[in-house]
Amino acid sequence: MKRKPLQVSVCLPSGAEPWAEALQAALPEARVTLWQPGDAPADYALIWHPPAAFFAEQGALRAVFSAGAGVDAFIDRVPPGLPLYRTEDAGMGALMAEYVLHALLHWYRGFDRYDAQTCWQMLPPEAREDWSVGLLGYGVLGRAVAQPLKALGFPVQGWVRSPRQADIPLAAGLAELPGFLARTRLLVALLPLTPETRGLLDAQRFAQLPRGACFVNVARGDLVVQADLMAALDSGQLHAARLDVCSPEPLPPEHPLWRHPGVRLSPHVAAHTPRAAAVAQVAGKIRALVRGEAVSGRVGPQGY
Ligand code: NDP
Repeated sequence: MKRKPLQVSVCLPSGAEPWAEALQAALPEARVTLWQPGDAPADYALIWHPPAAFFAEQGALRAVFSAGAGVDAFIDRVPPGLPLYRTEDAGMGALMAEYVLHALLHWYRGFDRYDAQTCWQMLPPEAREDWSVGLLGYGVLGRAVAQPLKALGFPVQGWVRSPRQADIPLAAGLAELPGFLARTRLLVALLPLTPETRGLLDAQRFAQLPRGACFVNVARGDLVVQADLMAALDSGQLHAARLDVCSPEPLPPEHPLWRHPGVRLSPHVAAHTPRAAAVAQVAGKIRALVRGEAVSGRVGPQGY
């Protein structure tokens, strides 16, 4: 008897058609459809911010794949026990590295101060050794960000959950966070948003950085207590911040962050998910799961 083809559903809030077409091309042995209410049960799904009705109806799923790296906005909807896999790098790492490098060079080379000048005045050059970069989170994207910074000669260190050896010095856990912050001149947030990391960067943490440190947030706005961030900038404890993410998103036009002289904002664009690479990754993982193999990127029951 001929086996029924795998059913793969694509449930994205917008622009889903090219994703479904690309996934169909990458998985010709499957039947890939754009999800609609009342659809037949699927075996696997590619999702991003799915409506509650999706999981209410799709009871036969064996695993779901997030079209992005972060899953905080919809993890609560995923039924307990249903394996959820996130997109790992797929080209996002290089984009993140560009974003962080741009911010670092802007401050380290004094371009922010030259932008503010109206006279021909040279500033004393700074040394790369004095610009220690602290990556708060040394996962898939943290590792990609570290590479070009290290290659240029900036000191790079990371902060993770549990101790391990790596190619850069790593601090681990809350007990080692104050020391990590004290050694950091440019702090880069690259953590997932979870119950443990929400609000982690508050007045106390900003005070543990050296005076005049800079901050880049390319992860999630709710990692930060925004009022504390603005107070740290106002007091000079922080020199400046570049924020790709904030809370809420979109940030309303009247929000004071828009007008804060020490803040530069971008609308959550540090790293979009490159479609071709992400789809190839999902197709490869579906095939591996069908063969009964383990695949990486599974999000744990606590969110990570
Ligand atoms: P990973 O899961 O690969 O890495 C997460 C890192 O954070 C790990 O080093 C992990 O430690 C560390 N960590 C510290 N505390 C916690 C905790 N309580 N729970 C979980 N991890 C913790 O994630 P990625 O590098 O792929 O992505 C990081 C985040 O970047 C995403 O979650 C997303 O929010 C954000 N992002 C933003 C984008 C943008 O355009 N602005 C685009 C893509 C992602 P350990 O190594 O010990 O596990």
